[in-house]
Amino acid sequence: GAVIGILGGGQLGRMLSVAASRLGFLTHIYEPGTNPPAGQVAHRVTTAAYDDEDALRAFAQSVDVITYEFENIPTSALDLLEAHRPIRPGREALRVSQDRLIEKTFLRDLGLATAPFADVTDAVSLDAGLAEIGAPAILKTRRFGYDGKGQVRIKSDADAPGAIADMAGAPALLEGFVDFSHEVSVIAARGLGGDVACFDPGENVHRDGILHTTTVPARLSASQRMDAVLMAAKILNALNYVGVMGVELFVTPQGLIVNEVAPRVHNSGHWTQNGCSVDQFEQHIRAIVGWPLGDGQRHSDVVMENLIGHDVDQLPDLVRERDCALHLYGKTDTKPGRKMGHVNRIQRPETKT
Ligand code: ATP
Ligand code: MG
Ligand code: MG
Repeated sequence: GAVIGILGGGQLGRMLSVAASRLGFLTHIYEPGTNPPAGQVAHRVTTAAYDDEDALRAFAQSVDVITYEFENIPTSALDLLEAHRPIRPGREALRVSQDRLIEKTFLRDLGLATAPFADVTDAVSLDAGLAEIGAPAILKTRRFGYDGKGQVRIKSDADAPGAIADMAGAPALLEGFVDFSHEVSVIAARGLGGDVACFDPGENVHRDGILHTTTVPARLSASQRMDAVLMAAKILNALNYVGVMGVELFVTPQGLIVNEVAPRVHNSGHWTQNGCSVDQFEQHIRAIVGWPLGDGQRHSDVVMENLIGHDVDQLPDLVRERDCALHLYGKTDTKPGRKMGHVNRIQRPETKT
């Protein structure tokens, strides 16, 4: 069978590998760290840095198509890889999602509602941004932030000096605080031929900046649900996207506001593993190898709960729980804040006796 190259060997790479192997493909993981979770299930692993040109070249030549599980792949590595094999999703999606300023500008230019934002490089531009946007606001690093890291809340102008100090000179984006009622995400897929399919939006709850639960169906009206899907489709089409993308949205009385996009399978899409015939991982593999997209219709209500750090200590109870699908990532060292696994609790309608 064809070989799929995956950049990154974390749990997303692992679940992509499992999905690929179910469809008869082999996977080759490229990961700088040793003993990556995906390495346990992949056909082949290359342990090398992203500046190792020989390793990158050999990796590219050993696969048919290249995909990735995280968006912060160095541009130089992408240039080298792309000279040999197609990278899907393509470079434009990476360029846009690697930098919050470029991302927000792209989304706004598409006509989608975003939080008001301003480019911040120093104390002067922060003051100017605050004068324009007003507090409360959030200052976020433009690059490399995840799980709420690299963010500072600004409650009033007095918080500005502390916030700029926290950025330690890194380019940042000031965002007006959105007074949302809840957060949802759309996991959307676009095939090689341009067909788009979206999973049912999920409702996300965060704890300590990390996704805690995703519940489907989300609390959305029929028109909000339609809006969410249309917004996602607009983004995928504009990027000529191939693969699965996670689109995070805030729900407000004034409508849906796009927060950010992730050009990959997404934690808030893990519920699809037990809520749909074709989950986000299979959908992504189908898209990047040029297969037709699969049936992502939701057949069950699901609550996905992440097992973060010592949450996995509940394992003896979880393995006995009914209607609870367990997904563990094969990580051995349990650390606070580390994603160790997740459970999908299938919400079965009351069975009649
Ligand atoms: P992820 O792990 O999802 O990639 P991240 O570190 O990239 O997270 P964001 O998703 O931008 O960060 O923000 C994390 C959370 O902070 C959001 O899910 C939301 O709850 C809150 N948040 C972010 N931006 C805003 C905003 N402009 N207004 C209100 N809340 C916000
Ligand atoms: Mg993010
Ligand atoms: Mg986010």
